[in-house]
Amino acid sequence: MTKYVAAIDSGTTSTRCMLFDHSGSVVASDQREHEQIFPRSGWVEHNPAEIWQRTQQVIRAALDKAGITAADIAAIGITNQRETAILWDRHTGEPAHNAIVWQDTRTDRICKELEAAGHADTFYRKAGLPLATYFSGPKIRWLLDNVPGLQARAEAGDLLFGTVDSWLIWHLTGGPATGGSATGQHITDPTNASRTMLMDLETLDWDDELLGILQIPRSLLPEIRPSSDPRFYGMTLADGPFGGEIPVCGNLGDQQAATVGQNCFAPGEAKNTYGTGCFMLLNTGQEIVHSRNGLLTTVCYQFGESRPVYALEGSIAMAGATIQWLRDNLQLIQNAAESETIAQSVDDAGGCYLVPAFSGLYAPYWRSDARGVLVGLTRYINRAHIVRAALESICYQTREVLEAMNADSGVPLKALKVDGGATANNFLMQLQADILGTEVIRPVVAETTSLGAAYAAGLAVGYWENLESLRANWQVDRRWQSRIDESQRESGFAGWKKAVARTLDWVEP
Ligand code: ADP
Repeated sequence: MTKYVAAIDSGTTSTRCMLFDHSGSVVASDQREHEQIFPRSGWVEHNPAEIWQRTQQVIRAALDKAGITAADIAAIGITNQRETAILWDRHTGEPAHNAIVWQDTRTDRICKELEAAGHADTFYRKAGLPLATYFSGPKIRWLLDNVPGLQARAEAGDLLFGTVDSWLIWHLTGGPATGGSATGQHITDPTNASRTMLMDLETLDWDDELLGILQIPRSLLPEIRPSSDPRFYGMTLADGPFGGEIPVCGNLGDQQAATVGQNCFAPGEAKNTYGTGCFMLLNTGQEIVHSRNGLLTTVCYQFGESRPVYALEGSIAMAGATIQWLRDNLQLIQNAAESETIAQSVDDAGGCYLVPAFSGLYAPYWRSDARGVLVGLTRYINRAHIVRAALESICYQTREVLEAMNADSGVPLKALKVDGGATANNFLMQLQADILGTEVIRPVVAETTSLGAAYAAGLAVGYWENLESLRANWQVDRRWQSRIDESQRESGFAGWKKAVARTLDWVEP
């Protein structure tokens, strides 16, 4: 009987369940959105109960569409929006508060206090991360400080912390104790744990010094298990959404999953994902490379008993979301796809630049005081120039990250593998090749995030034998080479740098 591998991809805006066959092709999928909750400017929350509910719905719907049952599924892999923090009651499964989402900036003060107390170097050295609101550790601290009673419940051992992967694995493998039945497994993997600011990159364990600085009790934290685990995190329940017992044995944060789905298994291989934001990861092999140029050091994956593989990451907060902003806030376009035709109707952006520093700038600047600018305006500038400038902003931000990577690794990247929703825009991909002066390559299977999670799970059960067998599934859809000359490229980039300088120091302390 043909078997499949299931991936659950719990993203920032939606959750999907995808079923893959042995060739890495999608057999069936289902996707549902969840509510974005904005209690105040700069705050972003999700309802964890809704995420679990959507997860159950997409699982049932995907199985229905494929016309299969649990018996046809060899393994399950999880991938998720990273850094989003959830605390819940270990007995009842009740969330202690809404999830605080990665984009949320409420921990700005906590981060500034950590910096003032001189802890930046410790976090950089051990966790590979700058002090930024992006990561989950300070979000836990905020919850314990601000939700009445939580600190006491945490100290009494009644609470569990998890990013979305842990929340879903806990539910899938048992959830809250009912009668005599098993309770869920409280587990994460090193890729997700490496975004908490609490894990030591060398030991792949929670670090007492980092826990001490943030005063987070160890009892809150999940066990860190390999991203692909032949010992399995646990089995799904016969009365759960899969309707049968299946090993849950793969877990990767979404950007690491895309790196695996793109087969970036060798040091020096990199991918860039163009979704809400842009996330470029460069495999640095078994070496922990500490960035001198504003990148993050992160775990790329750890498969079975093998030594972990690390990555340098450049995170950009606003990429495809800039196109949504043109559509929803400015109404310059009716849909994202229209950005392609409109931008192509002009020869260039007419000297105008849009820097979408809407929630500050992430890599390589890490400046929370920056805000967006539209500069170089004259009466000549029209809607098409602005749309084109928005597409160019995605490419220029990517160039800044790529330059940081080349500087950190000392080896210039020869080609960039791309994926994500916005890579459907062929003109954007041409602009990217022009602005980088580096070849851009798009694979046939665009669902690299879910595919990576499926690979992690499938490797654990021997559905796929080894990394080489995965390489056979990766095929080029299209390549783009630069069509502009070096002087054009450099003068365009110099203008971008000037525009970025105008965004800084905007928000007063
Ligand atoms: P995520 O997983 O972060 O939700 P996706 O990979 O689904 O993101 O990509 C969706 C993003 O891509 C949206 O922000 C959307 O504006 C952008 N996008 C989709 N199609 C295009 C297009 N043709 N041109 C430019 N941007 C696009």
